[in-house]
Order: sequence, then structure tokens, then C-alpha cells
Amino acid sequence: MGFLQGKKVLIVGIASNRSIAAGIAHAMAREGAELAFTYQNEKLKSRVEKIAEECGADANLIFPCDVSSDTEINAVIDSLSSHWDGLDSIVHSVAFAPREQLQGSFVDSVTREGFAAANDISAYSFAALAKAGKSMLAGRQGSLLTLSYLGAEKAIENYNVMGVAKAALEATVRYMAYSLGPEGIRVNAVSAGPIKTLAAAGIGDFGKMLAYGERNSPLRRNVTIDEVGNVAAFLCSDLASGITGEITYVDAGYNIVGIGDK
Ligand code: NAD
Repeated sequence: MGFLQGKKVLIVGIASNRSIAAGIAHAMAREGAELAFTYQNEKLKSRVEKIAEECGADANLIFPCDVSSDTEINAVIDSLSSHWDGLDSIVHSVAFAPREQLQGSFVDSVTREGFAAANDISAYSFAALAKAGKSMLAGRQGSLLTLSYLGAEKAIENYNVMGVAKAALEATVRYMAYSLGPEGIRVNAVSAGPIKTLAAAGIGDFGKMLAYGERNSPLRRNVTIDEVGNVAAFLCSDLASGITGEITYVDAGYNIVGIGDK
């Protein structure tokens, strides 16, 4: 029996089979979780449906959701509540910043609008999902999980406004954990190393980040979506019942290295 047997999980953030959320969905399904999914727009719908099918999910549990809209977030939870009597976890694997702001000088590229959009979609939406989903999560020792990156803590070339949004996201994890802890709801993040996905392709010189990580992380390689998926599944399971408000690195150890260019 898998360690997520009997758990009901909503997965937000699949855009392709390379998405980190796809790795999380497969790991969770393998461990026995029942899954529901969202897709950002019609263009991505069929890709999400395919992954849902691979995970053995009910085709009725795939909903549209642009997380910049409270109406769409509330509609997902409303629809889900007509199928499920509760929810054990929500996985938030979503980020956005205007592409032109993910290269070059932070000060030169950042704009008021870009800053607001990056923080709204990449950070606030995690709290928005918690607000909407709280009633379904209540009374089940539920948990929420999001995805971050080292650029939240350190200045990383080209990551720019997304690093600012990830810093907000990591603070949001701690405030959400403190706020929801009394109700037994846990909140955590995985800080993943660089992985080639659609979102990552928008970051200037992303190939350089991958190559640098491969040369300089203690394990001398990058991580996979399956490795991130396994840790995400653990953090959302009862095995992690004592962990909340944490940022857990799945980055082949890259974050511990100071100077070490090979
Ligand atoms: P991805 O492109 O596969 O996933 C990003 C998702 O965000 C997509 O599914 C997209 O539809 C969704 N999204 C963007 N704007 C949205 C909106 N307005 N409404 C709803 N959904 C929206 O890329 P990924 O790398 O799997 O990214 C998932 C998460 O992992 C992101 O938070 C990202 O910052 C984080 N992360 C990625 C890496 C990496 O190197 N790939 C490393 C660390 C953290």
C-alpha cells in the first residue's frame, strides 16, 4: 500500500509532461493518491488530460483555472466539492513573469506591472488557493505544497523579478504555516534545482544554469522531476506530519556550496 493511500490531492500547474507538477502527480499516483487537476487555458487542456489519464484520475476532475482570477479559483473548489467530501492536499506549481524581465539587469528590466504580475501569479495565488480550499482541507490534517528556487535567497543572474516573487512565496509559506497550523494544516515548499521545463525556458541563459549546476553541485548532476515528485509526495503525506513552514531543497545539494566553480 502506498503512503498516500486514501489521500485526495489537487494538482495545479501542469503544462507539459516535463512540468515539475507532472513528476509530482506521477509520484503521488504511484503512492495511492486520488488526483484532481487544473489547466491554465484551453491550449494546455489536452496535455493535462493525458497526464491525468496516466495517473488513473477521474476525467471529471480536470478543471480550468487561471490563478490570477479568484472567480476561477473558487469555481475549482466549488466543482471539486461536488465530487469529493474533502481535500487532503493542494500542490501549487505555478509561476509567471514577463519574459523580457528574466534577462539582463534587474533594475533596468523590472517594471511596476511585471513586478505585480510576478508576485500575484507566483506568490499570492498560493495564498488564494489556501483561502478557497481551506474549508475542504479542514479536519483532515491536510497540507499545501509549493515550488520555489534558490533565487529567492540569493541573487542569481537573469532570475531577477522571479527571485523577488519566490522570496515572497517562501515568506508566504511561513505565514500560511503559522496561520493554518492551529487547524492541523501543514504548508511547505520544495526548492528545486534547475530543470528544463517550459517556464524555465523563459529564463535568460537557462542552459548555463543547468551546466553550472551539473559541474558544481555536490552530486555533480541536476535533479529530475521524479526526484522532486518523490519529496513532494513525502511532504504531503502523513510521514511528514511533523514538518510545516519548511523549504526543502531538492537540488543535488547545490545550495550548500559557496565557491566551487569547476
Ligand atoms: P512549467 O512551465 O511546466 O509549469 C509552470 C506552470 O505555471 C504551467 O503549468 C503554467 O500553466 C502555470 N501558470 C503560469 N501562469 C498561470 C496562471 N495565470 N494561471 C494558472 N497557471 C499558470 O514549469 P515548471 O518548471 O514545472 O514550474 C513549476 C514550478 O516550479 C514554478 O513555480 C517554478 O518557478 C518552479 N521551479 C522550477 C524550476 C525549474 O528549473 N524548472 C526550479 C525551481 C522551481
